Amino acid sequence: MKKIQMVDLKGQYEKIKESVNSSILKVLDSTAFVNGPEVHQFQKELEAYLGVKHVIPCANGTDALQIAMMGLGLKPGDEVITADFTFAATVEVIALLQLTPVLVDVYPDTFNINTDAIRKAITPKTKAIIPVHLFGQCANMEEILAIANEHNLFIIEDNAQAIGANYTFKNGTTKKAGTMGHVGATSFFPSKNLGCYGDGGAIFTNDDEVAHLIRGIVNHGMYERYYHDVVGVNSRLDAIQAAVLRAKLPNLNAYNKARQEASQKYTTAFQNCKHIETPKVVTNKRCHQEAGICSTCDCHVFHQYTLKIINGKRDALAKHLAELQIPHGVYYPIPLHSQKAYKDSRYNEADFPVTNQLVKEVISLPMHTELDEEQIRFIANTIIEFLK
Ligand SMILES: *Cc1c(COP(=O)(O)O)cnc(C)c1O
Repeated sequence: MKKIQMVDLKGQYEKIKESVNSSILKVLDSTAFVNGPEVHQFQKELEAYLGVKHVIPCANGTDALQIAMMGLGLKPGDEVITADFTFAATVEVIALLQLTPVLVDVYPDTFNINTDAIRKAITPKTKAIIPVHLFGQCANMEEILAIANEHNLFIIEDNAQAIGANYTFKNGTTKKAGTMGHVGATSFFPSKNLGCYGDGGAIFTNDDEVAHLIRGIVNHGMYERYYHDVVGVNSRLDAIQAAVLRAKLPNLNAYNKARQEASQKYTTAFQNCKHIETPKVVTNKRCHQEAGICSTCDCHVFHQYTLKIINGKRDALAKHLAELQIPHGVYYPIPLHSQKAYKDSRYNEADFPVTNQLVKEVISLPMHTELDEEQIRFIANTIIEFLK
């Protein structure tokens, strides 16, 4: 059996080595290392893939979120609602801009932001909602868009984990994750579904004015050389990363498909284990409702394959897997509202029953494009045996 990795970047690279290497060499020859034609081409190709009017590349996903909020003109004191169960970057940049993060609970089945909790958290100061499409599945955008519409709020999609995922609305229309709100933000960190070989990120929007503003913000607030109209940042995608991304973008659908297939194999293997809840795919696409797993559409692109261990043995299982050198992760072990940096006296433990429970139950298994059947069976059998 091949050595099991949490994310097998090496195995994936071996298969695209020639095209990645030649793309990188071309950049070296051009010496256009920052911005330039390679970054511009990638931008155009990603716009076409996503069906979005504007892609603005930047240095990483955290910057993308920050710049999105700057581009929408959010001001200190504005309240921004986001999920309690996510990676800290989402809330970090809200706080950094001196906006007020308002964390709310998530759903127990999809791990995504709970829309009733969003409604309850809205005050006259609320200016934006940041749904995080966690682990590769879109948040309940139908409802979130309706709430935003009703209350005149911005939506910034944190799409760091769901690039390439589709969302189907009740009327049957489908859109790509990250293109439904006012602005979307993504990360090209190497382990993400579309990862480069360093840091990278991008902002998406269909709004011409916001796009223009953001193009200046990423470049020191310049719209004309050496005229600084707004306070900006320096956040650029370098051309070598763009070259890697251009080589990988044509494979993104196949990569996501490979992740879905791996997830189906896991879920089938765990079917009869009563101590485990396998990830749930929730979609308006009726054909997949009952199966629980989406086999023909990309409504969940499985950035992570996350189980809930419901017999209280999650930590013991993690220890057992570590002893056997089976990689795994607990995303995320601490609710954001309990983190020192984001504690706030307004929060009440009773408002976070789901997140408080999830942090004790979740465990993510190896998930990447190179997993094979033998590895999946070995991982699943080890877990099932242990939990018996
Ligand atoms: C990875 C990630 C980010 C941050 O992306 P970086 O490129 O690492 O800055 C933000 N939000 C979520 C949900 C992520 O998973």
